[in-house]
Formats: sequence, structure tokens, C-alpha cells
Amino acid sequence: MTYFKLIDKGTEPNRLFIGGVHGKEGFTTLKALQKIGDDNVTEGKLVIHNCDVSPYLSTLDPLYYQSEVGKEVLYLINHYQPTVYVEAHCYKRKSYPKLISPQRRTKAGVPPLIELEKGVLIGSASPFIRTSLFKREDVCITLEMPCDPSQESLNVYVNILRIIASSGSRDDLEKKMKKLYPTQVETAREYAREFFGDYPPF
Ligand SMILES: [Zn+2]
Repeated sequence: MTYFKLIDKGTEPNRLFIGGVHGKEGFTTLKALQKIGDDNVTEGKLVIHNCDVSPYLSTLDPLYYQSEVGKEVLYLINHYQPTVYVEAHCYKRKSYPKLISPQRRTKAGVPPLIELEKGVLIGSASPFIRTSLFKREDVCITLEMPCDPSQESLNVYVNILRIIASSGSRDDLEKKMKKLYPTQVETAREYAREFFGDYPPF
């Protein structure tokens, strides 16, 4: 299930998409990541990496980044130094209420994820890496869909990946996302401010 693809059409922006960072979710994220092709990138670089099956540990667990796959994620980020970072995840349907609950702040120490549509959720990256490995102006996105996605959910998820792959800058990406999901982008902006201070929405 390990999958790697490099699309090289220049140096900037430098994008890294990682899927399947824990458990068996790579089986699902691979279905989406494989749909991103050379045509989706007009400028800059895109590295796509899907991880193999690993024991499940939340990326919000401090031990995660000491695990084998956690170290692999850190290695990839340090090696490719992306300015646009996407973590592709999937969730079990029973976890849905927990992921979007306002109580995620107190229970998991992070803002709730925001639903774009069809069960596709968006958020920032784990706070362990968002502020330490990335600059404020870098783009950090966590994308979630059900692990048994409907065709509609999968299409929404792939569409977001394609938008990110085809955006030439943060402004360009924000503009495209705002057009499709105005209220969600505004909520993401509020959450980022609340959680990280003067940070952009993704
Ligand atoms: Zn996950």
C-alpha cells in the first residue's frame, strides 16, 4: 500500500501530501491520492506519499512522533521542507461526532474539524508540528473522509486535493476555497486565531 509519486514542475510552491499516517487508513487515502496526476499541477512541486499499515496512535498523542511511522512523517517533512502540507486521513463513522464537537478543544486540545460537505472534514495539522516545523504562512491541512466513503465523499475529497495541488500560492488557494466553502473558511480562520494566535485559516 506504500505509494510514492513526485510531480516536478518547478520549485515553488513545494507541496507534500501524506496519507495513511496511522492504522489502516492508508487503504482509503490511497484511493484519493492515486487520482492526483501530473495534469493537476501547473507549477511547483508535489510529493505524494502514502504510508503502510501501522499501529493506530493519534497524531495528537505525544508518543505518535516517536513511533516508526511518526518518525517517517517527520523525516518526510524535514526532507522535502514543504510550504504546503496536507495530511490525508479517514475516520470511522462512529468518530464523526467527536471530530466535529466543540468539546474537542477540551478533550483533545485542538479545535473541532470543520465539515466541507458529504462528510469531508478539514482542519489544521497536529499542533506538535504546525508551529514547530512550519512557518506561519505555510499551508497545513488535515483532510478527513469516512474510511468507507461514498463516491460523493470521495469526489469531494479528491476535488479538494486537486485544488490544493493546482494552487500556485496561499492567496490563490484561499480564494478558490472561499468560493466553494465561504462559511467553512471563515470558521477555519476563527479557529486558527483562537488556537495559534495570528494565523491564517489553514
Ligand atoms: Zn487518521
